[in-house]
Amino acid sequence: MIIRPRTVPPESSRRPRHGKESDDELGEARNGREPGRPERPASFEEIHILWISEGMSCDGDTISITAAEKPSLEDVLLGLIPGLPTVHLHNKLLSPTQGGEDFLAPFRAAAAGQLEPFILVVEGSIPNQNIIEGDGYWTSFGNDPDTGQPLTVNWWIDRLAPKAWAVMAIGTCATYGGIHAMAGNPTGAMGLGDYLGWGFESAGGMPIVNVPGCPVQPENFMDTLTWMLYHAAGTAPRPPLDGMLRPEWIFERTVHDGCDRASDYEQGNFATDFNQPKCHAKLGCWGPVVNCNVPKRGWIGGVGGCPNVGGICIGCTMPGFPDAFMPFMDEPAGGELSSAIIKEYGDFVHRMRRITAMALNLEPEWRHNGPHLTSGYEPPRHPHQPIRSAAP
Ligand code: SF4
Ligand code: SF4
Ligand code: SF4
Repeated sequence: MIIRPRTVPPESSRRPRHGKESDDELGEARNGREPGRPERPASFEEIHILWISEGMSCDGDTISITAAEKPSLEDVLLGLIPGLPTVHLHNKLLSPTQGGEDFLAPFRAAAAGQLEPFILVVEGSIPNQNIIEGDGYWTSFGNDPDTGQPLTVNWWIDRLAPKAWAVMAIGTCATYGGIHAMAGNPTGAMGLGDYLGWGFESAGGMPIVNVPGCPVQPENFMDTLTWMLYHAAGTAPRPPLDGMLRPEWIFERTVHDGCDRASDYEQGNFATDFNQPKCHAKLGCWGPVVNCNVPKRGWIGGVGGCPNVGGICIGCTMPGFPDAFMPFMDEPAGGELSSAIIKEYGDFVHRMRRITAMALNLEPEWRHNGPHLTSGYEPPRHPHQPIRSAAP
């Protein structure tokens, strides 16, 4: 089931205008469709992935997915996973081209409506071109062949998103704005939902699919992409998304739910420095209120997961990241109260459990090598066997 965002921003803020384009040029794009274009049934044998990381990005998400194993990017691209369409990936760091116009060719073709179907993957937050007075731009991707002037990432998203069969945002910058969109930023950066509008639908009739994380956990993205590709092949329904357009099955539980140290928390066993293998709530861990599966899934090859390996959760998958979680190393205000309550209860429960555990660590007395069976065993009585008197 697709769940729409709980809070849909007002129309005036749902899709900012950018550059010098007119409303007519961009009007149809507000609905995420080209005029008169029907929703297409998905049964593709081939599909392109146009991956733009020219937003406000560090390319960390591209690097991250190279570590995915279940499935790996190589497995998907080499056609080793049964039932997926043939996938052509166009990502600047992973491109077999030498870059330049060779790399840009599929993007130009798609913008001109000459390449389809494709999934648009956006990495990095999108700056606000509308706040620039006069000439200038925040970030660009290739040049306009007619004028030689840079084409902004906004220009590309405006043209590619409405034509894309699906649109995916990878990493917290692209999903919600992330680091570049924190208070005091000069670019007016935002996530793709704020840019295209939370009601956006792609040419394939889907909302944006957000896979946050800074960077994204590799398998979280490949897992979601694989589901999307099965949907593109016509063999799977759309992936279910939550109110912030995240894959439900990945982000429905909290860090705390999957943390190896959750029993320490419950028993009031809190670390006072990072070397102690206890709960890190008092060192600034936000895990109890952050939607992320990393402690369960691990980072690379199932190993890692911030608090599991001695870190704290700083909420990097969350729409409020980073501002709502700063300063990172301070104990969350709510954590002070809850850990104080838990401490009282947890100490008591911990003592009771230790007593119980001591009893459970003893073996029963009937396990011995003596001449008599003392386990309490009684042989079964035959139904016609008379009941003997105990007296001789
Ligand atoms: Fe880099 Fe993090 Fe932004 Fe991804 S989300 S582009 S890893 S800063
Ligand atoms: Fe929860 Fe963080 Fe403690 Fe783990 S370290 S149990 S996520 S508060
Ligand atoms: Fe980010 Fe916290 Fe998940 Fe680590 S556990 S990846 S800091 S949300």
